[in-house]
Amino acid sequence: MSTGFEFEIYKREENSLARVGTITTPHGKIQTPAFIPVGTKATVKSVLPESMQDLGSQALLANAYHLYLQPGPDVLDEAGGLARFMNWPGPTITDSGGFQVLSLGVGFKKVLAMDAKTFRSDQVIAGNKDRLAHVDDEGVTFKSHLDGSMHRFTPEISMQVQHQIGADIMFAFDECTTLHNTRPYQELAMDRTLAWAIRCLDEHKRLTEVRAEKPYQALFGVIQGAQYEDLRKKAAGDLGALSSSGIEFDGFGIGGALDKNQLGTIINWVNSTLPENKPKHLLGIGAPEDLFVGVENGVDTFDCVLASRIARTSAVYTMEGRFNVSNATFKRDFNPIDDECDCYTCQNYTRAYLNHVFRGKEIIAATLATIHNERFIVRLVDQMRQALLDGNFADMKEDFLGRYKHKSGQSRD
Ligand SMILES: [Zn+2]
Repeated sequence: MSTGFEFEIYKREENSLARVGTITTPHGKIQTPAFIPVGTKATVKSVLPESMQDLGSQALLANAYHLYLQPGPDVLDEAGGLARFMNWPGPTITDSGGFQVLSLGVGFKKVLAMDAKTFRSDQVIAGNKDRLAHVDDEGVTFKSHLDGSMHRFTPEISMQVQHQIGADIMFAFDECTTLHNTRPYQELAMDRTLAWAIRCLDEHKRLTEVRAEKPYQALFGVIQGAQYEDLRKKAAGDLGALSSSGIEFDGFGIGGALDKNQLGTIINWVNSTLPENKPKHLLGIGAPEDLFVGVENGVDTFDCVLASRIARTSAVYTMEGRFNVSNATFKRDFNPIDDECDCYTCQNYTRAYLNHVFRGKEIIAATLATIHNERFIVRLVDQMRQALLDGNFADMKEDFLGRYKHKSGQSRD
């Protein structure tokens, strides 16, 4: 019986793991590779869903942790699911909440691409007295960052919450570690993530049957293992072959701590071990140079808050690199942000106008800059897909990176 969820690969690169495909969901298709913008709380901050559609976004990713706390998953269920609730006409994805429960818990920064060489433990642990999350074999107990109330997530609860939210693609509840954790702890967390993956599959199967009248929701397993080759490959091997209650994962997410200097190597270990025919999503990575690394190592979809978050601080992407449009130099610059960009902002507004509205702290500043940045990243990955189809990915990559001046550590915030 067809579930309404499918993944078809129709072109493969010969010298890398890159491929072009289509993910089909009950709410529509995603042509891959694709960048999926993030609307954490069922909204891409400051931008209408219609504008996200106009700029080429094929799907949106929201967060189960935030929607669980507010407004509550039952509200989304009653509304007819996430897509209908937020007036988004296409596919949706939810992150399981594992990362948020733990990252808000230990107070570490939200993007996990880190440079192991410059990474300090005080960037991770806010101090025991501030710890908001405690992990045990059954699940995680955590304090709400909104009102301090206590909550508990288990694999079963995460599945129940995500089924109620109703996204087309969900992620299994995993224990997310950092580069700071010791090797023995990484092993422990990985074993726990595997045990939780089995519980997620079992509960997912049960809920799919209980809620048979709802559109099918696909479940992706999450590969942990930090920077260790043997751990990453073991996690990919175990979860890739995992079957419980007669079902397997529909796809996979690559999660956890990723040393930015080893990004391609780590993704390659994972994707060359996982079943080739299933979609792979790289969680939380979205800096332009990292997207190339992901695509050539077999990543099909990406999500990241970076494009919209930096937009709200006036940082904008261009083909020449990133700059702050609020800088005084742009006061009388009547050019678009990027004259090669086809977004609504660049077609209608100047750097001078953006400079003015950022300096005046006008709300429209966030809207215009976010539309541009999201379009820039969505289009960049679209261009990679086209280059793969045309057989000139290597040239396209060289052209882009030759012009694009990036700072190291750009994907951290
Ligand atoms: Zn633009």
